[in-house]
Amino acid sequence: MTGGCGYIGSHVTRQLSEAGYRVTVIDDLSRGFPGSLLHGERLVEGDIRDSALLDRAFASGKFSAVLHFAASIVVPDSVARPLEYYDNNTLGTLRLLQACQKHQVRQFVFSSTAAVYGEREGGPLTEDSPVAPSNPYGRSKLIDEWILGDVALATALRYVALRYFNVAGADPRARIGQRSVATHLIKVACEAALGKRPEVVIFGTDYRTPDGTGVRDYIHVEDLAGAHLDALGYLEKAGESRTFNCGYGRGYSVKEVLEEVRRQAGDFRIRIGPRRAGDVSQLVADSSALRKTLGWKPKYANLSDIIQHALAFEKTLPR
Ligand code: UDP
Repeated sequence: MTGGCGYIGSHVTRQLSEAGYRVTVIDDLSRGFPGSLLHGERLVEGDIRDSALLDRAFASGKFSAVLHFAASIVVPDSVARPLEYYDNNTLGTLRLLQACQKHQVRQFVFSSTAAVYGEREGGPLTEDSPVAPSNPYGRSKLIDEWILGDVALATALRYVALRYFNVAGADPRARIGQRSVATHLIKVACEAALGKRPEVVIFGTDYRTPDGTGVRDYIHVEDLAGAHLDALGYLEKAGESRTFNCGYGRGYSVKEVLEEVRRQAGDFRIRIGPRRAGDVSQLVADSSALRKTLGWKPKYANLSDIIQHALAFEKTLPR
């Protein structure tokens, strides 16, 4: 696991250990926390662009699969600092795939994103919808998908690329959750509701959506983590390389999200601001392929559980 100490990675690490896998995590701890490893998983501290470090990590055992989470993930940051995103996300994935080839690891699960799709109106996005990322983050991940496709054609590597829609929520027991990167809407709203920030700014009310604010398909991190175990099971059963959307197929607007946080946690200040660079109006997943092909069965497919668990975890963090 790369990035196994991060927000999504730590939930997958935990579920893998609980399912009986032996997990080694590579994490540079730039945004991950070693305390997020709940079952004593082995941690190799370092950067995935460091090929010597990867060699040492791969040589320390026999690995059946790599799950790759380590990446920079904030859309507006990627607009401001594109080279950092291509370096960490694209070059990082390239170095990791070179190490997989060298050390003969042939199953690969990749964290991709709905940001590969870009602006589009109409119904939910299928995996065949046109890709047209609106920002460097999405482009850095789309290039990774293309590299993976080429490598899978040329070698014995098989992969599953999971295109995450908007991941939120936390471990239902509130042991792990989103600690860093406080730019995502549900995290920001939970912080405001708990008095950790003065207000939430709505980035644009002039989108072509029912209430004018951005619409996203929020997926609970536990359900997303489950999709990774399903993907691994699929590859273990010789499944061919595939890309899957990860969302519930239902979009919520920024205003609807803020309303639900207010309902659960009380009032906080909301201000209307301009659109944010790199944002699109709506991203909603058609995830029928994930359900059918991988047998994915989500447990928390509702906004109320997502926000309840996000709030409960946020309360465990220092102010
Ligand atoms: N958003 C907002 N205020 C915030 C953070 C986000 O209005 O403080 C909006 C954003 O414009 C988008 C939606 O919430 O429409 C989800 O944004 P987020 O940053 O959570 O995820 P993204 O879709 O950019 O990956």
